[in-house]
Amino acid sequence: MPASEFALRRRALERRMADERLDAFVVSFLPNVRYLTGFTGSNGLLVMLPGRAVFLTDPRYRIQAAQEVECPVQVAPGAMLPRVAVLLRRAGSRRIGFERTRTTVDAFDTLRGALPMRSSLEPISGWIEHQRMIKSEPEIAAIQRSVELNSRAFEQAARHVRPGMRESELAAELDYRSRRLGAEAPAFETIVAAGTRTALPHARPTAARLPSNGMILVDMGAMLAGYASDMTRMLFLGRAAPHARRMYAAVLEAQLAAIDAVRPGVKAQAVDRAARRILARHDLDRAFVHSTGHGLGLEIHEPPRVGKKENTLLEPGMVITIEPGVYFEDYGGIRIEDTVVVTANGCNVLTPTSKDLHAI
Ligand code: ZN
Ligand code: ZN
Repeated sequence: MPASEFALRRRALERRMADERLDAFVVSFLPNVRYLTGFTGSNGLLVMLPGRAVFLTDPRYRIQAAQEVECPVQVAPGAMLPRVAVLLRRAGSRRIGFERTRTTVDAFDTLRGALPMRSSLEPISGWIEHQRMIKSEPEIAAIQRSVELNSRAFEQAARHVRPGMRESELAAELDYRSRRLGAEAPAFETIVAAGTRTALPHARPTAARLPSNGMILVDMGAMLAGYASDMTRMLFLGRAAPHARRMYAAVLEAQLAAIDAVRPGVKAQAVDRAARRILARHDLDRAFVHSTGHGLGLEIHEPPRVGKKENTLLEPGMVITIEPGVYFEDYGGIRIEDTVVVTANGCNVLTPTSKDLHAI
């Protein structure tokens, strides 16, 4: 990410702070800290003040912070919050924002206790997450690279799939290929489910063996340069039963209809509805138990959500997944997931992996 991009992001946040008459904002949620500073470590905090920002971390990150962060850095050998309070007192901050959904009661109490009575702590939610919904060109390029790596890892590992292999072995193979291709980590715990276990939308790989005839669901993602990817594909071992083929075709039709519905100015719920409408036509809508998709970026799940009640208007630069699925206990489930970016007049599907029914 070019350094100037972090400054632009902080400036946009400062404007919001000014509009809402906030004198300071204590940002502690790491993906938000990374978004505003470029810091990739595991302990750091940003204090936004009018016209300036101060980054705090501990001595383990002294060198790294100097390399990554362009705002002034304070290294605190002990707890950081008392230092934050000193900064805020010196700045004379009256209305101080903190991240409502990311701050512990303990942290709140520590801050409250160390600040003068005349200052107020204001719970803030979603400001930075809202900013993060619209990705810049370098961010879209980073997500694209993550998506492509993830697809390559899947395609390499899929060549090794054999009946009798354990779900956990296939998961290990997928993770191994991903790391070999340069991924920093999996974006989430790789999902591999075989046979009837595909009915569990978030199945953990087990020691169960892949059947000689049946479906396998693989849902995987990579982190690359801090950005997530996310894809689900079905593999069919042996000959796919006619019923499974019909269900697969219906889910694919729903997924394509949802992708077709993605364009600027459309509510996220309209995309969800597009998928549900097709599944209803196939009498499968009751088996679709989750939402159609989610935003992704520095986190694997971030706004906007693409669900039944979501009013967020899609805008160019948003990156979302489209992943309808149907699940039947004792039979199995089918999900197909791609990552798409909203463009000026529609969307681009970033995921290159084929969605043809893949039989092994
Ligand atoms: Zn997924
Ligand atoms: Zn997903």
